[in-house]
Amino acid sequence: MKVFILISLFILGAVMGSFVCCQVRRAKLSTRKKKKAGDRSICLNCGYQLKWFDNIPIFSWIFLKGKCRKCGKKIGGLEILSELGFGFVFLVIGGFASESLEYAVLGPLYLMVLLAFVTILGYLAIFDGKYGELPGKALTFSVICGIILLILKQWSLFLSSQSFQFLPDSLLSALGGVGVLAGTYYLLYFFSKEKLVGSGDWILGLAISLTLGSWWLALIVIFLSNALAAIFMAPSAIKKEKKKIYFGPWMVLAFVIVFIFQEYLLRFIVF
Ligand SMILES: [Zn+2]
Repeated sequence: MKVFILISLFILGAVMGSFVCCQVRRAKLSTRKKKKAGDRSICLNCGYQLKWFDNIPIFSWIFLKGKCRKCGKKIGGLEILSELGFGFVFLVIGGFASESLEYAVLGPLYLMVLLAFVTILGYLAIFDGKYGELPGKALTFSVICGIILLILKQWSLFLSSQSFQFLPDSLLSALGGVGVLAGTYYLLYFFSKEKLVGSGDWILGLAISLTLGSWWLALIVIFLSNALAAIFMAPSAIKKEKKKIYFGPWMVLAFVIVFIFQEYLLRFIVF
């Protein structure tokens, strides 16, 4: 049963990864091209309309060796990464990380909102990495999910302790997290006048810190995301290939890592 759930989570993740990637690509197509493409995916090189069996996540890519069936041009590099990434994250977050959280009664509901949240974050990360901007509608949804997840977490804490004694500390910690993560990016955005950090980054930070509900975890996210950005973007920054630094994908990656290991990380609160 457990294995069945894990496999289902992976498949669901892969399908969502495929869907999200498609949505990101379509977001910037011209209306004319959108019309031509209709509801079916096409090869952006030769216009070949993909059949349903060309569209099965992961399998089709392996079978076609990442090439278009008609013109042979390499396609779907981003798609396969997104499918595998989503599949893996769904599997780990749904299968392992969720077990360690105490929300027995609210479990399924929490998991559903959490997976929706992760999907939106994935969309934002791919969008930001590809176009260097964070779309406002998805940001709004991510904040709404963050608020729901925070409420569900407090609720489950109440159910397991049957008192509200934890609430002041818990909310203060969440608020601290918002200050640390959203606050830092907001200040960077404000004082650099959008040169260093875009306006969407602090809203993404807000959504992530609400979901984590802990100032300590938020602090780790900010260090980790800056470290990841520095490691992966320094080479191209030196060569001056990229004009603007984007933080979105790194913040999302840092969030996923911190969320998975939160039990472990919370044991190391140093001050
Ligand atoms: Zn083609």
